[in-house]
Amino acid sequence: MIECPRQELPFYIMAIKLFIPGPTIVTPDILETLSTPMMSHRTKAATELQRRISDNLREVLFTKEEILLSTSSGSGLMEGAVRSCTAKRAAVFSIGAFGKKWFKMAQTNGVPSDIIESDWGQPTTPEMVDSALATGKYDLICVTHNETSTGIQNPVEEIAEVMKKYPDVVWCVDAVSSAVGSKIETDKLGIDVLITSTQKALALPPGMAICTLSKKAYERTADVPNRGLYFDLRTIYDFIQKKPYQYTSTPCLTIMYALDAQLQKILQEGIENRFARHEEMARFIRSWADEYFTVFPNRKYLSKTLTVIGNTRNINVSELNKELIARGMQIGNGYGELKDKTFRIAHMGELTMDDMKAVTSNIQEILHL
Ligand SMILES: *Cc1c(COP(=O)(O)O)cnc(C)c1O
Repeated sequence: MIECPRQELPFYIMAIKLFIPGPTIVTPDILETLSTPMMSHRTKAATELQRRISDNLREVLFTKEEILLSTSSGSGLMEGAVRSCTAKRAAVFSIGAFGKKWFKMAQTNGVPSDIIESDWGQPTTPEMVDSALATGKYDLICVTHNETSTGIQNPVEEIAEVMKKYPDVVWCVDAVSSAVGSKIETDKLGIDVLITSTQKALALPPGMAICTLSKKAYERTADVPNRGLYFDLRTIYDFIQKKPYQYTSTPCLTIMYALDAQLQKILQEGIENRFARHEEMARFIRSWADEYFTVFPNRKYLSKTLTVIGNTRNINVSELNKELIARGMQIGNGYGELKDKTFRIAHMGELTMDDMKAVTSNIQEILHL
């Protein structure tokens, strides 16, 4: 037998605990499911796999609508949503790096669109949404649920109230770094397309994107002539109806095995318990940040899955991280414009309160706080 050549990984990758906002740690039992043998993706077993995944996702995403999967990271379906559901013009509300990127996706796909920006560290307010939609120019809006660059969770409940005045507008939400860690009642809020991906609060390896699709959003796609194909939400939806619970091309079966197992584990933990665990970790990290640094964004709208901490002591974050990595843990540096002004501690996925205590006490020790 010919041996499979393997690249040796640096030792620390094997042992490191990630406190970065994606990819997050994957538990060993889930890692094992990644070595499940391949099967034909055109079998009944593949259908059953995708159906079970979809049913369980409906439960944790609080929707009765169809679930679409995509072999891509979350960005794929963000691009697909704005392109295939905008017939007139999209209003992209941006509160940081990922909102900006969503606008760029619209622009580079030739989707007529405007960006409505908040200062970094501030939310999208219901008033901003109302005044944009009152112009009558837009038939779709993009809103970030949890902005990973600034640590803001937008007030989607309040935005939902405004959206009731505009029943023809399709509402897309980027919940890539919050879904399944922070409660979002998709149908109740009237969100038409809620997007997430596997490597954040779902605590899986990267590789698949997930979205919900309302009937309103589906119907809208009929009015959009150039939707593309691979990320066209209509094509993915139609395929599921025609060939029950199958994917338009070859799906990432490996991640589907893991997603299937992880969703069952999440339901065993209890989705409300999972949210409560995230809240408890968030509260702990925020008060730690207040004691030794400061919480960066507007305190009224804090993320439940990560805390962006203002670097008030002007520490060298990459030096700190080097020391942390030697101790088997890694935090996130600031993102983009906030690179040295902030650092980030994620509290999502499978992390626990013990992990929060460990990372903060190690930071204190390293910095002699
Ligand atoms: C990570 C992230 C994305 C991008 O998702 P990918 O899965 O990396 O494509 C988009 N939006 C937010 C808020 C994110 O945190």
